[in-house]
Amino acid sequence: MTGPSIPPRYQTDAFRAHRGSLLEERGPSPLAVVLPRTAAEVATVVRFALDAGLKLVPWGGGTGLMGGARPSSDSIVLDLREMRRVRAIDPISGTVTVEAGMVLEALDRRLRRRGLTLGHDPWSQPRATVGGAIGTNGIGYAGYLRGTMGDQVLGLEAVLADGTVIRTRPAARSTTGLDLKRLFIGTEGTVGIVTAATLRVFPVPATEVIRAFRLRDFSTGFAALSRVYDDGLTPSVMDFEETFEAPALPWGAEAGPPTLYLGFAGAKEIVAASWRVARRRLRSAHASPLPNREAGDYWRTRHDIIYMHDEISPGVTRADVALKDTIFDYVHVALPRSRILAYRRAALAILRRRGVHPIGFGLWTQPELVSLEVVKPVLGDRSAAKAAVAASVDALIRKAHALGGSMEYVHGIGVKLAHLIGEELGIGADLARRIKETLDPQDVLNPGKLGL
Ligand SMILES: Cc1cc2nc3c(=O)[nH]c(=O)nc-3n(C[C@H](O)[C@H](O)[C@H](O)COP(=O)(O)OP(=O)(O)OC[C@H]3O[C@@H](n4cnc5c(N)ncnc54)[C@H](O)[C@@H]3O)c2cc1C
Repeated sequence: MTGPSIPPRYQTDAFRAHRGSLLEERGPSPLAVVLPRTAAEVATVVRFALDAGLKLVPWGGGTGLMGGARPSSDSIVLDLREMRRVRAIDPISGTVTVEAGMVLEALDRRLRRRGLTLGHDPWSQPRATVGGAIGTNGIGYAGYLRGTMGDQVLGLEAVLADGTVIRTRPAARSTTGLDLKRLFIGTEGTVGIVTAATLRVFPVPATEVIRAFRLRDFSTGFAALSRVYDDGLTPSVMDFEETFEAPALPWGAEAGPPTLYLGFAGAKEIVAASWRVARRRLRSAHASPLPNREAGDYWRTRHDIIYMHDEISPGVTRADVALKDTIFDYVHVALPRSRILAYRRAALAILRRRGVHPIGFGLWTQPELVSLEVVKPVLGDRSAAKAAVAASVDALIRKAHALGGSMEYVHGIGVKLAHLIGEELGIGADLARRIKETLDPQDVLNPGKLGL
């Protein structure tokens, strides 16, 4: 597609106008959108871009939250969704080899027909692709049990900036020097375009039991939860969040003490034993069990939010409409467990000082991973509200840095957080730039993302 035939949805991914950012609310239209069907076609487009002095932006489901798939006006968007073949399933080894454009939910469905499951189950599973999940090194609900998407990659096929196709050996473990596949995991298409991957997948668990509890307060719940992990349990689901009163939310939300959703999956005996241990820990923290319906609803609706990012008219999503008078953002920082409570206190104080409202403060998949959602109503001056949220997010990230944490554990950096990459990596930012320059000397691959 070229010129006016390019749909406006390619101007930005899910980094939309309602976010607290001083960057442009969307990108320009790219010069062209190409939908390759093979790695060889991707290589042809790469060589074309190289010769023509153009840029390439890999595009999967366009659900990335950081603008990692935003084009520039001199770029070709490589929409990989036509590359969606399952090349092989090996149920004995528990692996699948799949092309990068396959949507995660479709892959999981295919695997389930063979008694397997993908394991990577992000909120965005119905729309996000394998390539996007690898490009951002995403994490899903079962992240503690199954690892990140990157942990599941055994080997991959990628097209380099000169059009060479590289295939790494899909081994369970290997100590053969640099782990080359890691170059392409979480690097947002800046050093190569992933065209296929061999992933670790898992037998569908015989049973999975998820329950919900109300905790008295955050710190008591946090202590009990930490004990659950220290006992050696491996939750398949853990979502612990307290909620606050926040104005101008376009959806219903109740403020209150924290809720914990906890689940275990596997053989019946292991699940039963895990629950015996976890219950003991939760009882000693005076956790009250909530009706089973609560956990059932949580689980059934876990992907619903992604449909807010479907277009309802060209270039306009449901989220754009629902959040037109609201600036809504979040931070997902990883911290040493010993600093979580200090971070919570500091984060709430930062928001109070800046007149930005917390919606929820929580821990997801494991006690070190914080998610914090914030909101500010637009009362007249939209750019002032955006600036206040942007400044709060930066301050929240800097606080995480000061406490020894990392600024983002799930969504990547894209363009939204690129200005903070130097603070995150220190001298490592230089090393990352030198690697990029070596692998992509003409800066063809997704320039500007990750601060590169
Ligand atoms: C409502 C909502 C909920 C979300 N929940 C989660 C969640 O639970 N967990 C989670 O991890 N993420 C979540 N996300 C973020 C997003 O879904 C993930 O980052 C996802 O992995 C992106 O996949 P995608 O296919 O949409 O990639 P895109 O958005 O298309 O691309 C993401 C990045 O990867 C690059 N890329 C895409 N394909 C390739 C490729 N083949 N080779 C190299 N680079 C490539 C792009 O250039 C871009 O930099 C959520 C997003 C939304 C909107």
